[in-house]
Order: sequence, then structure tokens, then C-alpha cells
Amino acid sequence: MVDKVHLLPYFFGNITREESEVYLQQGGSGDGLYLLRQSRSFLGGYALSLSYGRQFYHYTIERELNDTYAIAGGKSHRTPIDVINYHSQESDGLICLLKKPFHRPRGTEPKVGPFEDLKEQLIRQYVEQTWNLKGSALDQAIISQRPQLEKLIATTAHEKMPWFHGKIDREDSELRLLNTSRVNGKFLIRQRENSGRNESYALCLLHNNQVMHYRIDKDRAGKLSIPDGKKFDTLWQLVEHYSYKPDGLLRVLTETCPRPSHHSERGATGGIISRLKSYSFPKPGQKKGSAENPYKITPNGKDDYSKQGNFLDSAMPMDTQVYESPYADPDELRSTKVNRSDLTLEDGELGSGNFGTVLRGVYQMKKTQKVVAVKILKNDDDNAAVKDEMLREANVMQQLDNPYIVRMIGICEAENLMLVMELAELGPLHKFLQKNKHITVKNLTELVHQVSMGMKYLEEHNFVHRDLAARNVLLVTQHYAKISDFGLSKALTEDENYYKAKGHGKWPLKWYAPECMNYLKFSSKSDVWSFGVLMWEAFSYGQKPYKGMKGNEVIQMIENGQRMSAPPDCPPEMYDLMKKCWTYKPDERPGFSVVEPRLRHYYYDISQ
Ligand code: ATP
Repeated sequence: MVDKVHLLPYFFGNITREESEVYLQQGGSGDGLYLLRQSRSFLGGYALSLSYGRQFYHYTIERELNDTYAIAGGKSHRTPIDVINYHSQESDGLICLLKKPFHRPRGTEPKVGPFEDLKEQLIRQYVEQTWNLKGSALDQAIISQRPQLEKLIATTAHEKMPWFHGKIDREDSELRLLNTSRVNGKFLIRQRENSGRNESYALCLLHNNQVMHYRIDKDRAGKLSIPDGKKFDTLWQLVEHYSYKPDGLLRVLTETCPRPSHHSERGATGGIISRLKSYSFPKPGQKKGSAENPYKITPNGKDDYSKQGNFLDSAMPMDTQVYESPYADPDELRSTKVNRSDLTLEDGELGSGNFGTVLRGVYQMKKTQKVVAVKILKNDDDNAAVKDEMLREANVMQQLDNPYIVRMIGICEAENLMLVMELAELGPLHKFLQKNKHITVKNLTELVHQVSMGMKYLEEHNFVHRDLAARNVLLVTQHYAKISDFGLSKALTEDENYYKAKGHGKWPLKWYAPECMNYLKFSSKSDVWSFGVLMWEAFSYGQKPYKGMKGNEVIQMIENGQRMSAPPDCPPEMYDLMKKCWTYKPDERPGFSVVEPRLRHYYYDISQ
């Protein structure tokens, strides 16, 4: 969405109301001449500037809670472009119809606001400091959680601003403003003491050697304003606004009164820190999850979830214990052998298969205890082949380390052969979705995007999964998916980019690409085909693909050029991507290096 608006020739970006009027004047100010700009008050909102009778009219296009757009009080539309199209036909409250767009001068781009510049840097810093992540783990966290992180940063970025002095009292703020150069318009913002349940702030402004204090209240909808003043989503937007326009203040804000030291104030409670509630931030050098992190999955993890009422709704992958490898901590010795004495098995099955059962367990590591899933091979008389299979699976898993893939922690050879893995508490995606039909399209897109990130990693490392399906995607939380079941997976050799099977096996035919069946050829491209089926399963909330059809009927259907139809209410962009994944010829089918960014951009778009 945002990208599409940015491409509009009449979108001017972050310009002021006055600048828009100058532009419209340049355009001759004909009735119905208009341009679009970014709202400087509301996150994700826009403003429409319209010329009529040599006057200018400005309308805010707000982004509503359900991600629709409307001019305050007007009809809702799916995108701001739809709002404009509608008002080109119907004035419906506007002073006149939108007749002619005014285009940006040749060679100029939409103006980028000051926050946009800062945002990237703030997001990186925030992820680095909060979860103590580095390198690719840091990059992947930003890619998968960008919409959430942007929102967090936007509403808490003021804490990093030099004009934000935290909780200091009125007298302190006066001392700070009067003790340095007394420039008119010098200002700071403090958080008010005793502001009750709702946060409130004060804007302290130097005017002729006196400090004026303006209260900034937060209303029920979370909008900030000076009494009777304009409303804003964030403090930095408020500061921006009053820096170019007094708009009721005695004067405009000119110079920042910098806070004496970043550490001396008693701390703001309104921002980043309170948002993650009781999350204890790792101190430098301390690994996340090792202290009293309430989000950690503990041996009685289920109780933890119920105590953390909204955990499943709000936690990010990085808040869990399984985002980074347990061996990312250099103090934990990497060993693929798990001693039986360090492993406690619990009652209650997580699942089962041909090989045996999967139980929950607790693994005592050098520094921490970890809740784990343990795949236990049944002790049959002739299980050599199954044992081999499990060891092969362990061997593949051992080589993989990615946040969106279930990691193997080790092998334990004791009363049974056991594969110790990271725990993905909420189990297989298809079953979860069958029971949770309320999950939003945004949430589904977030999850399938994470799967595509894990698959892109496999593609880059020359592994083929060969059993990618919703049943083999396990959920850690409602917002965190991991790929599992590497029983059929293969590492490719350097000179071949596909694996040739020796013969047909017990195969998941409905997930297999035509070249798998016809030529026994498996590659990342055939995984892409399976990924398309997985997307279909996700967007149909765990329905069976090709329901009621036999394997050979499915093969015939594909050979005839037919494909499954779109699941009900599936966004057309997502169905389109599924169909791309089901391109007949592997050479013409996109790889995960193409699929992942397509999903990413769609996810960012609908999360704006
Ligand atoms: P399939 O028959 O699909 O090939 P399988 O026999 O190889 O499966 P898995 O899929 O590995 O067995 O595991 C069976 C079930 O155990 C899963 O569907 C899931 O419910 C549970 N399970 C497996 N691994 C984990 C894990 N890491 N965390 C939580 N549950 C798990």
C-alpha cells in the first residue's frame, strides 16, 4: 500500500500544509486541483489538499483500526487511492469534487520526514539492545517483525530524543531551561508526575525569560494533544508540528534544551519499557532468557501461558527461548550428545508417528534449563531402518541453524534412541488453524512469511526439505512458526542442484511438484511447489488440499493444467503467489529468494 502511494505522481510525502498550498498555487489553483501528502499528525495517515475558489481546503485521511481509510466521519475505503477515486465521483462532504491531480515537479521524490531517517537506526538499536542479537539473527528479527517494531519505535522514539527529559518536576525543568542560553522558543518535554492511569506530559517553553508549561494529555484513543489543540499519534509529531507553527502556543519551538545525561532522569515509564510489561531486559553480556524473563518457556510452560494472559497475542519470536540456538551462548558447550542424566521426560504426548512418540522434556544445560521436545524411537525388534532414518534426520538438523527452523539440541542414546529438539508448544499449523478460525489474514501472512524465511535459508544452504506441508510447520506462539520434520530432507551436492530419488516411496503426493513424480527430481523449486500447497492450507484454515481426490487424480488434474481454486476470503495477492508456486516447469517457477520478498512486502503492506 505505502509503496503504491509513494509511486503516485501527486503524492508529495512529508510536506507541510503551507508547502502544499504553495504547490497548488503554482498549479493555477483551479477548482478541484488536489494533491496528496503524508499526515504529519497520524501514523500511517494522509492529508488531501484541495483548491476551490482560490482557497485551500485540507482533509485528513485517517487509517482506521480495521486498516481501512476514510476522511474523518466519511465512508471507509480499502486504500487511500480508493478514497481519492471515490471523491472524484462524489463530493460527499468535500468542498468540491477532486478534478485534477497536481503532480510533483519533474525529478523530485516525495519528501522524507525526519523520523523516516531516524527510524532504521532506532529499530536496529532497539532490537540489538532488547534481545542482545547480532548478525543474521538481528537482521532476520527485523525482517520478520518490522511492522510491530516500527509501531513500537514510533510511539516510543521520544525516549531517545534529546528534548525528552523523562520524569522531572516543574522546578527542575525550569532550572534546565533557565540555566543554559536563554533563546526564545527553547523547549523540553517532561513526563508529569501523578498523571494517574493515563500518561501525560508537559511541554516547557522559554518565552522572554519565563518558562511556560503546556499540559499534553493522552485521550482514550491514545491521541496526544495540548488542551484544545491538534491531536497527534506521537510526541515527535507534536514537536515537529509546533516547531513550524505556534498554533496556540506563545511562540514556535526553536531550540532543544538537551537533557543533562541520558541516565540521570528517573526513567520514563510510558514507552518501550512499559510496552513489554514485566520483560526483564538483558543487561550487557547477559543472555536473554537466562534471567527472570517471564516469557521464557519453563518446565510448567502451560501455566506460564495462562499467567501471561496476552502472551500468545503479543509476544514476538525474539521474546521466546527458541529464537536463537541454545548454543549461541559461548558458555554452552556444543555437543550433539545429550546425557540421559541431564534429560527429564514428562508425561503427556506432544504427538506420535510411525517411529514412536514425541514427549515433552526438560534438558539441564550448563547454565540453563530448557524445555524440549523429545522424539523417542520405539524399541521394536527390527528397527534398524527406522533408527537409520532418525539418525539421518538428526544429521540434517544438526547442520541447520535458523530462527524459523526447529533446531536439534542433541541425540540421547539410552533406553531408547532419542532426538532432543526445540519445543514448539502449539503444535502443527493445520491443527492450530482448524481450532482457531479467528486468526486474521495478517497473522496468517506473518506465519507463512516466516516459513518462507526458513525455506530461503534452506535454499541458500543447498538443502531440500521434501516434506514441506502445514503438518510439518510447528507453532511456538500464534506469531511464531518453525519448519520441522527433516526425515526426507537431503543436502545437495555442490554440482547438482537437485536430488534424484532411487524410486517412488511413501510420498505426500498432493504436496509434490510434477517433476518429483515424473522424473524423481527434488530441488528447492519442488519445495516451492509444496510451499504453495502449504499457503493454500494456511489460508483455508487447515483444510485438506484436493479434498476427496486420490493421488493419481491430483496428478492428472495438474497435468491438465488445472490448479486448486482460491480458499474462501483468500486475498487475491496471496492466491496469485500460490499459482506462481504451482508453475509447471521448475525453471520458470520462482525460488524462495523471490517468494520470500513477495510475501514480505505484502505482509508489510497490510500491516501499515
Ligand atoms: P510424519 O508422520 O508427518 O512424517 P513424523 O512421524 O516424522 O511425522 P513428527 O512430525 O516429527 O513425526 O512428529 C509427530 C508430532 O509430534 C508432530 O505432529 C507434533 O505434534 C509433535 N512434535 C514433533 N516435534 C515437535 C516439537 N519440536 N515441538 C512440539 N511438538 C512436536
